[in-house]
Amino acid sequence: MADCFYCRQAAVIIAGRALCRKHFIRHFEEKVKRTIRRFGLFGRTDKLAVASSGGKDSTTILYILKKLGYDVEALAINEGIHGYRDGTIEDLKRFCTANGIRLNIVSYRDYFGFTLDELLAKKAFQPCMACGILRRYLLNRASRDYDYLVTGHNLDDEAQTITMNMIKSNTHLLARLGPKTGQISSRMFTPRVKPLYLCSEKEVATYAFLQGFEIKFTECPNAAGSFRASVRDMLNGLEAMHPGSKLGIVHSFLKMMPVLKCLPVGKELSCCRECGEPAGRELCSACAIVSSKLENFKYNL
Ligand code: SF4
Ligand SMILES: [Zn+2]
Ligand SMILES: [Zn+2]
Repeated sequence: MADCFYCRQAAVIIAGRALCRKHFIRHFEEKVKRTIRRFGLFGRTDKLAVASSGGKDSTTILYILKKLGYDVEALAINEGIHGYRDGTIEDLKRFCTANGIRLNIVSYRDYFGFTLDELLAKKAFQPCMACGILRRYLLNRASRDYDYLVTGHNLDDEAQTITMNMIKSNTHLLARLGPKTGQISSRMFTPRVKPLYLCSEKEVATYAFLQGFEIKFTECPNAAGSFRASVRDMLNGLEAMHPGSKLGIVHSFLKMMPVLKCLPVGKELSCCRECGEPAGRELCSACAIVSSKLENFKYNL
């Protein structure tokens, strides 16, 4: 690899230009700061919860926000996925202890009375559909005391989600994307923000590696064969052939976002008759799963 553009030391990554370890870390952290400023994600006095999985993305943003002096805590959801989540939660516990970050863990077992594995053993739900609904539900409930829920979504994640919703013609879901929470503004929803929005997966993985985070680069056993996995593989192939494709998708989306936000939102939200949380029908999606009355539910993950 070429020498660093700035100091002529050995480069570790090409991020626009060849950069050594020191200059890449500086470049990456500056990019995160610029993203926070550009999209007005949150302010210095805000209380932040980082939705933390113990993976590279959430650990990276947790570390950077702490380093930048934000009032930040970690919020983890343990879905109960055998051979996967226990390991990532242990990594997260160690990381938070080492960095003086408070960690709150909420589990499907404690809240719903079953693990994801137990749910899937009983009912033929598409794993990521059920898991995503229950996780979003718990994250929303558990983050009410915070001003913002920070997620570790990176550029690759966003390019995938945009493409998935385009393919499925889900314009109302598309309109909810972006670096800051979607169209729905309500005290019942903690605003969600994505400071890694313009950082590629490769950049995040490089940052996590260079910082020596103890992270298992394992994948959830349910991920294989999902629609997201197909779109991810397709976009990775496209990026390899035509570098900049993912960034192009996200930039195009950002240009279209003001128009998408003006589209009708769809159904008015009411309150779930079981739990009182926001719902587009009598039962919210989480209660529908819990009572196994989720039928013909259309959701993309
Ligand atoms: S890959 Fe699917 S099942 Fe696994 S944690 Fe993610 S959403 Fe849940
Ligand atoms: Zn350098
Ligand atoms: Zn409900």
